[in-house]
Amino acid sequence: MRILSCLTGEHNLMLVALAAVLCVVGSAVSLRLFQRLRYAEKGARTAWTFMGAVATGANIWCTHFVAMIAYDPGVAVAYEPMLTGLSLGVAIAGSVLALTVAARRFRFAAELGGALFGLAVTAMHYTGMAAFAVEAVILWSPVYVAVSVVGAVVLGGLTFNRARAAGRNGGTLAAAVLMVGGIVTLHFTGMAAMTIIPFAPAVGEVTAEQANIVVAFAVAAVGLLVLGTGLASHALDMQSRAQAKIRLEHLVEGSVDGMVVEQDGRILAANAAFAALVDSDHDALVGETLSRWIAGLDDLAVGALTQADVRLEQGAPIPVEIAVRSDGLETGDAPLMIYALRDLRPRLAQERRIAHLARNDSLTNLPNRASFLEWLTKQTAQDSGNQKVALLAMDLDRFKEVNDIHGHAAGDQLLVRIGERMRAALRPGEFVARLGGDEFMAVVPVERREDALSLADRLRDAIVAPVDLGHAEVACGLSLGIAVWPDDAADVSALINDADLAMYRAKASLTTDVCFYEEEMDEAVRNRRRIIQQLREALDQEQFSLNWQVQATLETGEVSGYEVLLRWIQADGTFVSPADFIPLAEETGLILPIGEWVLRKACAEAATWSEPHKIAVNLSPVQLGHVDLPRLVHQILIETGLSPSRLELEITETAMISDLERTTHVLRQLKLLGVSIAMDDFGTGYSSLSTLRAFPFDKIKLDRSFMSELDGGPQSAAIIRAVLALGESLEIPVLAEGVETMEQLHFLREQGCDEVQGYLLGRPKPVADNHIQDAAKALWRDDLDGPVMIQAA
Ligand code: C2E
Ligand code: CA
Ligand code: CA
Repeated sequence: MRILSCLTGEHNLMLVALAAVLCVVGSAVSLRLFQRLRYAEKGARTAWTFMGAVATGANIWCTHFVAMIAYDPGVAVAYEPMLTGLSLGVAIAGSVLALTVAARRFRFAAELGGALFGLAVTAMHYTGMAAFAVEAVILWSPVYVAVSVVGAVVLGGLTFNRARAAGRNGGTLAAAVLMVGGIVTLHFTGMAAMTIIPFAPAVGEVTAEQANIVVAFAVAAVGLLVLGTGLASHALDMQSRAQAKIRLEHLVEGSVDGMVVEQDGRILAANAAFAALVDSDHDALVGETLSRWIAGLDDLAVGALTQADVRLEQGAPIPVEIAVRSDGLETGDAPLMIYALRDLRPRLAQERRIAHLARNDSLTNLPNRASFLEWLTKQTAQDSGNQKVALLAMDLDRFKEVNDIHGHAAGDQLLVRIGERMRAALRPGEFVARLGGDEFMAVVPVERREDALSLADRLRDAIVAPVDLGHAEVACGLSLGIAVWPDDAADVSALINDADLAMYRAKASLTTDVCFYEEEMDEAVRNRRRIIQQLREALDQEQFSLNWQVQATLETGEVSGYEVLLRWIQADGTFVSPADFIPLAEETGLILPIGEWVLRKACAEAATWSEPHKIAVNLSPVQLGHVDLPRLVHQILIETGLSPSRLELEITETAMISDLERTTHVLRQLKLLGVSIAMDDFGTGYSSLSTLRAFPFDKIKLDRSFMSELDGGPQSAAIIRAVLALGESLEIPVLAEGVETMEQLHFLREQGCDEVQGYLLGRPKPVADNHIQDAAKALWRDDLDGPVMIQAA
C-alpha cells in the first residue's frame, strides 16, 4: 500500500508513464544485445559487451532519473551533479560486470550475472538517491531497503535465466517483463523506503515543475538515443549476417556436392544436391537425422576426408567421400556440424573404365598385351604336376591387303568380328588376347602338345570364315605357331619367342598353317641376332675397313675410278660379307653411322691421292631416305677437301621405288653439290626403265649377273646390247660390272660399252694401286700389235 500510495500520491503520472516506456524499450534493447553478445565470435565479444553495457546502464539510469523527476516530495529538490554522474557510471560499470558474467558458460553464469545486474540497479539507485538533495530530513526504512535489494537481485537472476533459455535470435517476453519488473520494483520500493520530513511546511508553491518536465523529456530522449544507437548497430550487424547467410546459401545450393548442416544430430539445412543424393524432398530433410543414411558419423574425423556409403531404402548403397567441419564457434549450444558429401560413383566408374582400357584392347575388347603377359606369367608360375601350357601365336594372312583395298575402317571391322568369334570359340580355361595390329596370342593348359591343336582348329575356323562388310565380303588366312611350356622354354619371354618363330615358319610354309616350335628354328635366328649384336660393336672397335676396286675406260684401258667396298673383319679374324651384314645394318638402322663412316673415310683417303681418280661410294636406300643426307655429303666434302666432281654415289633401284618423289628430290640436291649419281645393279629390278626416266643419272651400272650368263645363251647378249643402245640414246654412259674374262671384255668393246669393272681388271684391294691387271692390259696391247685375237687366252 505504501508503495502504491507513494506511486500515485507523490508522482507525476505522466512522467512515470514516460519512465515506463523508456524502461520497456530499454529492456528490450538490452536483452537483444545480450543475446547478440552470447553468440558473438571471440574477437567481437568486448565490443558487444561494451555496447550492451552502455545500453543497459542508460536504460537503468534514464528510467531512474525520469522517475525521480516525476517524484514530487512537496519540497524544493536539487541533484548533486557529481553523484548524479557517478550513478550513471555505476550503472554502466555494473552492467559490464553483469553482462560479462551472464554471457559466460559455466553452470549458473546467467543467474549470477542476473544477480549482479540486480545489484547494479540497486547500487545505481542508491547512488542516485545520494545525489538527491531536499530541505528536509530523510528517514530510511531498512526493511524496504532490504526488500528492494533482495527483489532486484532475485528478479535480475530470473531475467537472465529466461534470457539464456531463449534461442539465438528469439528475444523472450518473459525476460523483458522480468527486467522491467525488476527495475520498476526496485525503484518504487526504494522510494517507499524513504520518508521525507520537511524543515518547513510546504507552502504549496510548485518549484519550476515545467522546467523539470523538459529536463525529464531531454533525459528520456538522450536515453532513447543511446538505446537507438545500440539497436542500430545490432540491426546493421543482423543485416550483414543475413547477407552473408544468403550468399552462403547460394554457394551451398550451387554446390554439386551434397551439403548438410546438423546440430545435436538433427539436420538444420541441406542443399538440393544432398536431397537428390538421398532421393528425398528438400524440405522434408530438416529435422531428420543424417545417421539415418550414413553409419558411423560420430567416428568421422573433423577436417579429414573419409569414404563411406549412403544407404538408401532401396537400391545399392552409394559410395561417397565425406568431409566434416564444425562451425568452431564457442557458443553455449551444441556445435554446428557441416558435412560435405561427394558422390563417388562417377569417379569410380571412370576409374573402372580406365582400368578396363589399360587391360583391354579398345577395338576388339579382347585382353591386351599387358593382360596377356600377366595371364601367361600366372599360368606358367603354377606348378601343377605334369600340366603344360601351350602358347599359340597368330598372325593374319592378307590382312594388309584388306586394309589397302577396302580401307582401315573395313580392316577394323574385320578385326572386331574376328575378335567376337574367337571369344565365342573359347572353352573354360582358354585365353586369347590381341597384341596389336593383326597379332593375337592364345594360352591353354594342356597335358600333351597335340592337345593344343583343338584350340588351334577352333581359332582357325573363327578367323578364316569370311566377314560380310555390307559392300564386300572379306576374309583372311591364318598362320599359327605353337610353343609349349615347359618343354620348349622355361620362361615366358623365351616361350613367346618360340611361338613367334613357329608362327613365322607357318607363314613361310606352303603346306601348313600351323607349326609347332622345333629347336632347329632357333639356330638361324640366334645367329642373326648375334651378328646384329657384333655389328653394333664393330664401329667402336674399328673392325671396318675399305677396299677399292678399279674401274677402267674400255676404249683406252685407262683407270677411270674406283668403287669403294666395305669390309668387316671381326675381332677373331672372321670375314663377314657385306652381302650378309648390309641388310642387317639396314634393318637395324646401323647403316646410318656405318654409311657415314664409309663416306668420310673414302673421301679422306681419295683426297690424299696424287692422281685425281673418281671414287664411287655405295648408298643404302635407308641413307637416302634420311633427310640429312645432302647436308652430310656437303659437310664431308668440305671436311676432307675432296672435289665434288670426284665423288660418285651409287644407288639401287629399291631406293627409288619406295618413295620416288622424295628420292628424286634428295638426288637433285646431291647433284647440285656437284656430285654424280650412278644407277647400280641395273636390270635386276622391276622397272629399271621407268626409274631411268625419273632422274637424270650420270651412269648406268649393268648388273654383273648379265656377265656371268653371257656364255649361257643369246638372251643375255641381247639384253646387254639393248641396255647399251638405251644408254647411247639417253646419253648416259654404261659401265659393265663383273667382267671376269677376256671374252666378256671383247664382247663389251664390240658393243661399244663405255666402262668396265670386274675381277679381270682387278679385285677389290685395300689400296687403290693405279693400274689394271696385266691380263686385261693384254687387250689394248694386242690392239697395238695388230689384229691378233686373244680368244684363246
Ligand atoms: P655392289 O654394289 O654390286 O658391289 C659390287 C660387288 O661385286 C662387290 O661385292 C664386288 O666384290 C663384287 N665384284 C666385283 N667384281 C666382280 C666380279 O668380276 N665377279 C663377281 N662375281 N663379283 C665381283 P662385295 O664387296 O661383296 O659387296 C656386295 C654388296 O654389298 C655390294 O654390291 C653393295 O651392294 C654392298 N656394299 C658393299 N660396300 C658397301 C657400302 O659401303 N655401302 C653400302 N650401302 N653397300 C655396300
Ligand atoms: Ca655398287
Ligand atoms: Ca653392282
